[in-house]
Amino acid sequence: MKKKKAPRPIRKVLIANRGEIALRIIRGCHERGIDTVAVYSEADRWANYVARARESHFIGPAPAAESYLRMDRLLEVAKKSGVDAIHPGYGFLAENGDFSEACRDAGIRFIGPPPEVIRKIGNKINARKLAEENGIPVVPGVSHPVTEEEVAAFAGKHAYPVLIKAAGGGGGRGMRVVRKKSDLGRAYREAASEGESAFGNSTLFVEKYVRNPRHIEIQILADTHGNMVHLGERECSIQRRHQKLVEESPSVALDEKVRTKMGEAALRIAKAVGYENAGTCEFLVEGRKFYFLEVNTRLQVEHPVTEMVTGIDLVQEQISIAAGEKLRFRQKDIVPRGHAIECRICAEDPFENFAPSIGQVAAVQFPSGPFLRVDSDLRRKTDVTVHYDSLLAKVIAWGKDRTDALDRMEQALREFKIVGVQTTIPFQLHLLRNRKFREGAIHTRFLEKEFTLDRVRTKHDREAVLLATALERERRERIAPSPAGTTPLSPWIQEYRGPE
Ligand code: ADP
Ligand code: ADP
Ligand code: MG
Repeated sequence: MKKKKAPRPIRKVLIANRGEIALRIIRGCHERGIDTVAVYSEADRWANYVARARESHFIGPAPAAESYLRMDRLLEVAKKSGVDAIHPGYGFLAENGDFSEACRDAGIRFIGPPPEVIRKIGNKINARKLAEENGIPVVPGVSHPVTEEEVAAFAGKHAYPVLIKAAGGGGGRGMRVVRKKSDLGRAYREAASEGESAFGNSTLFVEKYVRNPRHIEIQILADTHGNMVHLGERECSIQRRHQKLVEESPSVALDEKVRTKMGEAALRIAKAVGYENAGTCEFLVEGRKFYFLEVNTRLQVEHPVTEMVTGIDLVQEQISIAAGEKLRFRQKDIVPRGHAIECRICAEDPFENFAPSIGQVAAVQFPSGPFLRVDSDLRRKTDVTVHYDSLLAKVIAWGKDRTDALDRMEQALREFKIVGVQTTIPFQLHLLRNRKFREGAIHTRFLEKEFTLDRVRTKHDREAVLLATALERERRERIAPSPAGTTPLSPWIQEYRGPE
């Protein structure tokens, strides 16, 4: 048991993020009577989450490097507004050890692991080493930085295809599959330069490219007193360019024995680094074999599916842990119920090879209904820009079993109308009706190899256009012009303001 001081309550939290996750964290805080401080860039001035926080501060121009990634500005706002903690969300500074340390140095609690833990495990090579030392199976590969020649030697021994990966990579970036020797040089250079430009780290390592694995990950929670639990798995095998699009829990591929083993493996590695707060241990799974991939030292995009099946609010738990409280449950108390699925609705055109789609949202109609959750910062007139990732909304459906959850999701996506940008909804609707997907016969290259999207635009899209016209007419008839001098905190702002 580690020795830690008595809990210190958290009363005010700065959210160093934007969009749906900022809103999610704001809700979690307000439910507990905790004050919130939002930060926003030029592009997010009129965003929903900005108006929902108790207080909000401008931090700079649209590019993330000049706003959401500026530690100095974030800490300045944190001190000025007197917060006692910072929640980093996901992406941006969430897995940055220096930020966690800067918070600590400023006497502000970072809602995530301490810097030492992030540094130790955030680097994929270190994480692999740690897994090996703790007897957890890893994908055949090397656990040290490699030169191009060393990759060639590895491939000579283990045969192509191999996967070159950036030690600091994330979000599917900094990775290149190499299928034959002649492609190696280019793949190596590309992975290194992407690692350098996106993560400031050009170090590479190499793994055998597993042909058709599943991606299954384990959610963990660890308090500052040495107590840890895992909250079961999420299957995230539906991916494009190594990025998740649909996630569910439980996975149809695991039996109780393998599930227990994976949970134990995740906790073993967490224990080995002295993990604190919420984290995710990712694995590749082939049949009944599993291989450690990496640990994400933050709240995950797909955390709601775990919340839906376990009934545990992960953001609230993160705050409790950061406040120094002990976990209120043990492993045996975690009893998942039913099935949950999440669809990431992105501003991408599935009929044009998922090209990003930008523009202004002319109309939006959210789905609703029993056992359904929509996490989104979207509203009419939201500008979808090139500056941030393309996630518009997450739809999460719960059901008593998988079929029930999938049926409910299908209904929800038929109701969900977004006009003004192309979205992944038509793709997800097709997927939900795909026989193999329904059977659960999926793997990380399922979309690439076993799925074709009907190129005909669906009835769904035509309905969206009709809706947009109707809503626009209604707006003109019913809504008065914006009252002069309305403050950004006025509830009416949601209807009136935004770039005209
Ligand atoms: P998840 O594992 O939660 O599904 P993703 O891998 O999809 O998360 O990443 C979520 C967001 O975080 C994306 O915007 C992605 O670009 C960003 N991201 C992921 N890893 C990193 C990292 N190491 N550094 C910076 N941003 C990251
Ligand atoms: P990131 O930090 O970008 O999330 P991960 O190591 O978690 O990187 O891998 C992301 C995805 O890339 C996995 O879900 C999987 O689809 C694919 N992948 C990673 N490593 C391998 C591998 N050795 N073989 C096959 N696919 C892999
Ligand atoms: Mg990953």
